[in-house]
Amino acid sequence: MARWTARSSSTPVAFASISPIRSRPAHSARRSIWSRATGILTPGETARLAETARQQPRAADDALAQVLSLREALYGIFSARAAGLPAPAPDLHTVNKAIGKAMTRAGLSPSAAGGFQWAWPDAPIGVDRVSWWVARSAAELLTSADLTSVRECAGYDCGRLFVDGTKNRSRRWCAMASCGNRAKGRRHYERRKTAG
Ligand SMILES: [Zn+2]
Repeated sequence: MARWTARSSSTPVAFASISPIRSRPAHSARRSIWSRATGILTPGETARLAETARQQPRAADDALAQVLSLREALYGIFSARAAGLPAPAPDLHTVNKAIGKAMTRAGLSPSAAGGFQWAWPDAPIGVDRVSWWVARSAAELLTSADLTSVRECAGYDCGRLFVDGTKNRSRRWCAMASCGNRAKGRRHYERRKTAG
């Protein structure tokens, strides 16, 4: 249960796929799309959340709007940080509001390792649970030393953010399989064009 521990892996889970929002999810697929994509919730939690969303469609829509605006605000803060710029005040305000909501119900629960972990032991799993996880996870990263490793992908028209876990801080791409290979292909093409 290290979902919000920034140092537990090279990339904190909630941060793993923050990218600029270019389109809203389609209505039919939008309930838990982001939470599944980022692996924030366990399969059991996702199933319970989907059931709750079915019973409370209005609240689910509100929660989704909130999580999307939180995501946009986080993108604004982290991309500004990657560019060496100060955090935009409205984005910080949005994130702080979400952290406030998450922390009012937060508490400790025993962990499998015999210690304790942050959780929401007394709160039923509601549709706003995704925002809570994201807000708490983002706060962890924003206040950690790993913040200096946040980078924006150098890929053309990508804009994804990642935490550079390499020793010599040399990572340039969100993923070698996509942006890295595209850049390699382009360089190869340009070399051949110049040679020919
Ligand atoms: Zn990329």
